[in-house]
Amino acid sequence: MVGERKGRYVVALGGNALIPPGAAGTAEEQMLQVRGAAAQLAPLAAEGVELVVTHGNGPQVGNLLVKNELARAVVPAMPLDWCVAQTQATIGLAIQAALEWELRRLGTGRRVVVVLTRVLVDPLDPRRLEFSKPIGGRVTEQDATARADDRHRYAAQPGGGWRRVVPSPEPVAILEEAEIRHLLDSGAVVVAAGGGGVPVEEGAEGRYFGVEAVIDKDLTAALLARHLDADALVILTDAPGATINFGRPDQRLLERVTPAILRGFQAAGHFSDGSMGPKVEAALRFVEGGGGRAVIAHLDDARQALAGEAGTQVIQK
Ligand code: ADP
Ligand code: MG
Repeated sequence: MVGERKGRYVVALGGNALIPPGAAGTAEEQMLQVRGAAAQLAPLAAEGVELVVTHGNGPQVGNLLVKNELARAVVPAMPLDWCVAQTQATIGLAIQAALEWELRRLGTGRRVVVVLTRVLVDPLDPRRLEFSKPIGGRVTEQDATARADDRHRYAAQPGGGWRRVVPSPEPVAILEEAEIRHLLDSGAVVVAAGGGGVPVEEGAEGRYFGVEAVIDKDLTAALLARHLDADALVILTDAPGATINFGRPDQRLLERVTPAILRGFQAAGHFSDGSMGPKVEAALRFVEGGGGRAVIAHLDDARQALAGEAGTQVIQK
């Protein structure tokens, strides 16, 4: 960017936040949510803040897997890395359309570019062998047994039914990182690393191939934010922030917290695996790694969260 640096933010939009509770997940519903977020983010970009937007894809990739299953006899089912890539394209397109429109309304010509982003995972990561992450819809035990093979595993879920489970390895490197930085330097708003990135392993002679796994988007967002030297990592979801004693009468939203104190609450088990857990871990990694500020907030409070006035603000002092 030409001129004075106004700050660089990495903003992560939750996949669940884009499909509100009870919503069917139509394109129109998701566009509406994305427009709301874009209206809050665009003024920052218009002021010259460098913005990288990333997003989750849990419910969206789940819907693609349902289509895979139902249409199996008619069209070939696609591997998980292809499904992740598809959601990067579709959610990316929605964010691009909404943000570009808001930017134009604000009188700036800034472009929004979506980067198909691959994220390297380590074949020796112990989490590669743990089928810990449920994806897709619930099925009966009978269907789960019928569909299971050495590439497809299913596990019984709390609350009933069975779901497909896949490994959720650590993000090691973002393959398109240098290109994302170039785009930022050119003044573009960049949408990248959606769904935690398309997981790839490096094979012989440096050839990359996709794997049947999903990477947590919050952990990838933290890695991206640290590598890009962002001033803030902002994680927007469908909860007002990180809450201790969650779901109990004495629950309390953490408003401003140091990494040391947040690590303590984390160790005491206040944040669930697979939902608030990875957001808290991402915020901690970013701030402990030297990042200025991490925020976890509700999508509807994006503007106040960015200004430091809503959500859980994780900051050294
Ligand atoms: P996203 O799609 O944005 O990643 P998730 O569903 O993965 O959203 O995570 C957000 C959810 O985490 C909230 O809707 C809330 O129900 C749940 N959650 C679990 N533990 C906590 C906690 N301690 N504080 C706040 N929310 C929590
Ligand atoms: Mg999540």
